[in-house]
Amino acid sequence: MTTLVTGADIVAAIEQGAKERGVSVHWLARRLSSDPRKWLSQVAIAQRPTPLTIARVEALLADEPLPRAVANNFQLAREERAARHTVAASLPLPDDFQPLDREPCPRCAVRGDIGCSHRGAVRP
Ligand SMILES: [Zn+2]
Repeated sequence: MTTLVTGADIVAAIEQGAKERGVSVHWLARRLSSDPRKWLSQVAIAQRPTPLTIARVEALLADEPLPRAVANNFQLAREERAARHTVAASLPLPDDFQPLDREPCPRCAVRGDIGCSHRGAVRP
């Protein structure tokens, strides 16, 4: 395989890979982007594609798992929330901790710690 330096090299390598596999360029590139047509047109004009892009294309052409693309803000926020939850879950509980019964009422579905006319409020 030729060394991938420019976007044109990448497009040429993907075209070659598609030809060898007997599939279309867009079919082969579908693992790189949810919009392979747009991705290819943008990478084609890149003078210096990022090392990550090059690594992803090399993995694609070697039929290996792709390195992960840079996470967007939504994914980062989700990971941050998950990490925060992990920290909170690992904190020790106070000695006098009493779990609250929050099971909803089977008749009206009001949360148990709020209370309803069927069960009354749970006193902590
Ligand atoms: Zn109720």
